[in-house]
Amino acid sequence: SVEPLRKPSWIRAKAPVGPGVQRIKRLLREAKLATVCEEAMCPNLGECFNHGTATFMILGDVCTRRCPFCDVAHGRPSPVDTEEAEHLAESVALMGLRYVVITSVDRDDLRDGGAGHFADCLRAVRVRNPETRLEILVPDFRGREAIALDCFAGEGALPDVFNHNLETVPRLYRQARPGADYAGSLGLLKAFKERYPGVPTKSGIMLGLGEERDEVLEVMRDLRAHGCEMLTLGQYLQPSRDHLPVARYWTPDEFEALRVEGERMGFVNVASGAMVRSSYHADQQAGEVIG
Ligand code: SF4
Ligand code: SF4
Repeated sequence: SVEPLRKPSWIRAKAPVGPGVQRIKRLLREAKLATVCEEAMCPNLGECFNHGTATFMILGDVCTRRCPFCDVAHGRPSPVDTEEAEHLAESVALMGLRYVVITSVDRDDLRDGGAGHFADCLRAVRVRNPETRLEILVPDFRGREAIALDCFAGEGALPDVFNHNLETVPRLYRQARPGADYAGSLGLLKAFKERYPGVPTKSGIMLGLGEERDEVLEVMRDLRAHGCEMLTLGQYLQPSRDHLPVARYWTPDEFEALRVEGERMGFVNVASGAMVRSSYHADQQAGEVIG
């Protein structure tokens, strides 16, 4: 096997743990809630939790897909936890969160891909936390897009930001995103925007899987052509030796140049940097778009 590339100095490895973090972790265990922040051992955890931001993972921790860059377990998921929306609403209140990202594994086993449960969670969190901004980071709802989009039509079910990641360039989909479809993901972003034009749409890709700069720019243009307004670009890090290796570490200057390009293309906001994650500084990013 090939030796992994050495991590450059600008990659932070560890999550700094602040004073508030232990308390929050206890709360989460009591409420039986999972955060991506913890599961992915995100290096931004201390910063985000202390700023009142967190990313919750609903619909269980077992995915029906198997993407070789992703650390989530795969297999047969458990039934949907009907108390999850209430637990989430309560935890957001207890944690005093001002900006919440709700995401999920892929649930190809569910008729609506899990969209109805997303909507239930949005409603429940809003009732108890009317000031909290809510972003959803959704799977592709492949084959169920129309049913899924209907779910957000009800009172209180619309997110403040609709986020769906393309993850990588189309050439690498077969390798990195088996079961997903580049055109389908773009189509979902466009369909959401057409149906709910008042809600900003957002997407992101990971760099470092072997994509070329021209391919990244092409994806950015595709996103703009499908009405996408916000973009995140971050460095892919290999969760373990069993996952896809890092092909290249993009440099801080390259990330910065892509940010400038993105703004030139008309994205309202581009977060681009090695440690940027889909939800990193999501509050500030959204603040510039939704006020
Ligand atoms: Fe959580 Fe996202 Fe912040 Fe990481 S960047 S700690 S996943 S909210
Ligand atoms: Fe991970 Fe999402 Fe792929 Fe499931 S669909 S394996 S959660 S990246």
